[in-house]
Amino acid sequence: MKAITVIGSGTMGNGIAHVFAQCGYSVSLVDVNETALQKAIATITKNLDRQLQKGSITEDVKNATLKNITTYTDLAKATGGADLVVEAASENIDIKLKIFKQLDELCPPHTILASNTSSISITQIAAVTKRADKVIGMHFMNPVPVMKLVEVIRGYSTSDEVCNLVMNTSKQLNKIPVEVNDFPGFVANKVLMPMINEAIITLYEGVAGVEEIDTVMKLGMAHPMGPLQLADFIGLDVCLNILRVLQDGFGNPKYAPCPLLVNMVTAGNLGVKSGKGFYDYTGGGKELVLAERFRKK
Ligand code: NAD
Repeated sequence: MKAITVIGSGTMGNGIAHVFAQCGYSVSLVDVNETALQKAIATITKNLDRQLQKGSITEDVKNATLKNITTYTDLAKATGGADLVVEAASENIDIKLKIFKQLDELCPPHTILASNTSSISITQIAAVTKRADKVIGMHFMNPVPVMKLVEVIRGYSTSDEVCNLVMNTSKQLNKIPVEVNDFPGFVANKVLMPMINEAIITLYEGVAGVEEIDTVMKLGMAHPMGPLQLADFIGLDVCLNILRVLQDGFGNPKYAPCPLLVNMVTAGNLGVKSGKGFYDYTGGGKELVLAERFRKK
């Protein structure tokens, strides 16, 4: 495994390109948007500089990492020699199915096609290709250069050989891969999202305020971040979408999103990315500030 193509150069794609390139792989980074590619290279450079300052890499490693990445807006040009493609485009089923159909036509027969999707069925993605045995989930965590876990998701038809190859490749990135089966939410989101939803229901029912709920979970359960702050960080729209995938996929009302979460997303309060969620990020300071609506009157 030498040549990697990463599709989508947003939050996850730039991190995935970074770790592969730093481990010596030749990376083709593709996006439909040229500005997103430029932004990705700027982010990777900034993150490498931070590693350099900390002394965890040398100037040579920084330069070699950047040299290992080539950017493309043309999928055909970026996929011809790929051994592994990791798709990290926007979380939209139509976009992903279209990309995988194209990849199946463009890539050599040996190429493994992986998706970084948080919630879309790997089996469904595999079904639009003629190589379902070579389609797999590689679910990296955000921020990719820092987080150790890769959830490796076996679709219904993924072969043992492909699964082993992807597990070993993840280890070569200094990550810790965990093999899971393809059911809605996989493991990470099947467990995390109901916890976040329950924290929002707890707030909605008036059991406690935002800070109290987050403090109980931080100090009581040794979580580095409370569930409401984590929801802001993930994006409340993303949390809502995943809960709906769980609710539809398992047909179980226990995953029904809290009406408060639905209202917040409808109002455009999406967390860090929109400036406001349970907390207010518009001040830009380091201190966590409660959103006006959740302050005690
Ligand atoms: P993002 O919105 O930051 O980036 C997505 C990028 O994909 C954009 O730059 C967009 O221009 C590009 N894109 C859209 N259509 C494309 C196409 N047809 N070809 C090439 N590029 C295309 O999204 P993100 O947060 O990086 O998420 C990417 C994937 O990773 C999603 O499937 C998401 O569920 C998953 N994921 C996200 C996180 C997270 O915390 N953000 C964590 C784990 C997994």
